[in-house]
Amino acid sequence: MPEGPSVRKFHHLVSPFVGQQVVKTGGSSKKLHPPDLQSLWLQDTQVHGKKLFLRFDPDEELGLHGDGAPPKSLGKGEILQKEKAAVLGQAGVPSGQEASHGTELAIPGGDEGPGACRPAACAERWLQVSFGLFGSVWVNEFSRAKKANKRGDWRDPAPRLVLHFGGGGFLAFYNCQMSWSSSPVVRPTSDILSEKFHRGQALEALGKSQPVCYTLLDQRYFSGLGNIIKNEVLYRARVHPLSLGSFLSPTHLEALVDHVVEFSTNWLQDKLQGKQQHTQIYQKEQCPAGHPVMKDEFGPPGGFQRLTWWCPQCQPQFPPEGPHQP
Ligand SMILES: [Zn+2]
Repeated sequence: MPEGPSVRKFHHLVSPFVGQQVVKTGGSSKKLHPPDLQSLWLQDTQVHGKKLFLRFDPDEELGLHGDGAPPKSLGKGEILQKEKAAVLGQAGVPSGQEASHGTELAIPGGDEGPGACRPAACAERWLQVSFGLFGSVWVNEFSRAKKANKRGDWRDPAPRLVLHFGGGGFLAFYNCQMSWSSSPVVRPTSDILSEKFHRGQALEALGKSQPVCYTLLDQRYFSGLGNIIKNEVLYRARVHPLSLGSFLSPTHLEALVDHVVEFSTNWLQDKLQGKQQHTQIYQKEQCPAGHPVMKDEFGPPGGFQRLTWWCPQCQPQFPPEGPHQP
């Protein structure tokens, strides 16, 4: 699953399309029904942790009220709206934009459950995108097969959603789950890449009497933090993954939070510049000091167990007799 820095990069790729109208749709998503996005306007995009949010409106104007967005010049869509209103007027329908809107919004919603709610017909205008293991966003090109599958086919991956915009470009979303919501679930204080990230809240969570490698992956406190960041920051702060937060000194806890912010910020910068992020411990056999690296699966009881790499020499465990070695 892409971690915070990757999803921030997707957000960076999507942002130039804000203010444009969807003129053609495609994609294999059954749940979303891509044609529903036809002729909607992309009015905003936000990122929170590992989730990307896109706001669509049926009208170019709607998104510009009260959200601080800069005014946009008269777009093609607005001209189309006026043309449509004129046509409706000729057909005997009361003229004016209201009439046109009324027609557009009159989509029967009776039998459709909330999952099938059409964005133009209800208040759910935010498309929430959660990425799978190989989830990605492509701009103006499609992802191509990198190798043949087991049957020897070179079949290109199928995008879940393709959006062609009035400006001539397109976005293709791969390996992701999408759903409509009325507002983005944004809590910047827990987002490790947000300026509003709240260190105090993060430190308090880390200080709990549980292995710090569990807390780091808890999206309530470290939104956007994934397995690569977890392994790297534990190594850099010289903390054993199974150390109990309550046994760590404030200096250790502070160092962990510092490394979370520093590593993920650097990773994002590297991504935006097209550079690879270098890892020191993740999937390594030796740490940078030349010690052999240990690997095991750790996770809360009954929870998701994640592969974890650590150096027993550089990362001593606190307390020395860990919870898994009574
Ligand atoms: Zn080492």
